[in-house]
Amino acid sequence: MTASVSTRPTHYDIVVIGGGPVGLAAACAGARRGHSVLVLEQYEILHEHGSSGGAERQWRLQYAQEDLARLTVEALPLWAELEQAGGRRLVHRTGSLWFGDTATSTNEGQVNAAVAVLDRLGLPYEWLAAKDIEERYRFARLPGHYEGFFQPDGGMVDVRATLWLLYEQARAAGARVRDREPVRAIEPDDNGVTVRTEHGHYRADHVIVAAGAFSAPLLRPLGIDFDVELYEMATAYFRCVDPDFDYPTWFAFQRPTEEDTNLFYGFGRLPWATGDLVRVAPDFEVDVFDDAYGASRTPAPRHVKRTADWVAEHMPALDPNPLHPGTCLIALPKDHERQFYFGHAPDSVPGARRLVVHGAGWGFKYIPLLGRACVELALDGRTGYDLSRFAF
Ligand SMILES: Cc1cc2nc3c(=O)[nH]c(=O)nc-3n(C[C@H](O)[C@H](O)[C@H](O)COP(=O)(O)OP(=O)(O)OC[C@H]3O[C@@H](n4cnc5c(N)ncnc54)[C@H](O)[C@@H]3O)c2cc1C
Repeated sequence: MTASVSTRPTHYDIVVIGGGPVGLAAACAGARRGHSVLVLEQYEILHEHGSSGGAERQWRLQYAQEDLARLTVEALPLWAELEQAGGRRLVHRTGSLWFGDTATSTNEGQVNAAVAVLDRLGLPYEWLAAKDIEERYRFARLPGHYEGFFQPDGGMVDVRATLWLLYEQARAAGARVRDREPVRAIEPDDNGVTVRTEHGHYRADHVIVAAGAFSAPLLRPLGIDFDVELYEMATAYFRCVDPDFDYPTWFAFQRPTEEDTNLFYGFGRLPWATGDLVRVAPDFEVDVFDDAYGASRTPAPRHVKRTADWVAEHMPALDPNPLHPGTCLIALPKDHERQFYFGHAPDSVPGARRLVVHGAGWGFKYIPLLGRACVELALDGRTGYDLSRFAF
């Protein structure tokens, strides 16, 4: 994937820092507009050390914040475009089930607030009592006051296929992708930006920083406060023992315990693969740390056990023995309402209009939209998507 250093051009219209899905989507969008684009990735493409590891992500329209729900709807045609270009489905509509304490607020939102937004946007859902959820979706022993809803357009996104497709599409459109080339410094000035890597330096008219959880050390020397908390979220697979049954994607909203946020979510079988394994994971915001390079990449045994205990108690269609435990690194803004960062560097940074930054949050569902919006902001100075409240 890496071109020889001696033959590389050193000036690009756009340099993208980060070869994760946002960076690759931005590279696609920039190259398709006829610009020279270079992507710099510190590891190899499709590595598992950032926020895009694993096979699947939840796709959902519902959000407690109306602007985020609108963005998911706006992302849909861009996913369809990508699917058409790649000749394969990426977003699989297996339905999305949210249930639990409907007033509990979490960084994922809140059941009551999300339903109010679905109502305002005229999006369909079915309201369910605990016994409906148990009978239809094979959950068990739910507290009697639990309620929730099923939204039929939700489902899951195929992570690996999305990454491959974005990588292929970016290169087909003319973008260069250099992996194993960590960026060490970004130096904007009035005429452009110098990007220093372990192997040399490049000049760019515009730089898009799509470095995910690794953004802070790149942005701090510029005086940009990327105010996030990092977590290594545990995840595990469980075998579905009933060959005739499958789960929708689901999220259980529960009151926190003294030890953790007590939130769990999961998926059905992968629609793009064979097999009986389904993923169930805790969404525990505990053990915060601040250096993405210091991640242990080892799931906390207590989190895996808590997940297996939840499965044993509430999911009789699964064998509660956890398989393939792993971790995924996530950066979440300290301000939960914010969800992610997106925008030009603050005006206090010299050459701020040449730098666009995206990072943090539960953002896979927005990937093609974020890529396009980064490029619009870089080249046109504005984007038509309503992202202004995520600015620095
Ligand atoms: C456990 C878990 C569950 C999730 N569930 C969902 C979900 O259900 N739905 C959803 O929509 N989202 C979900 N997300 C969030 C979603 O996965 C992320 O928002 C998305 O994958 C982030 O993509 P990215 O390109 O911004 O970051 P990344 O994929 O982390 O990419 C950033 C890239 O930048 C590179 N990089 C960083 N610094 C440098 C540097 N100095 N030089 C060169 N390269 C650099 C990194 O190596 C990395 O490849 C989840 C995340 C986790 C961890």
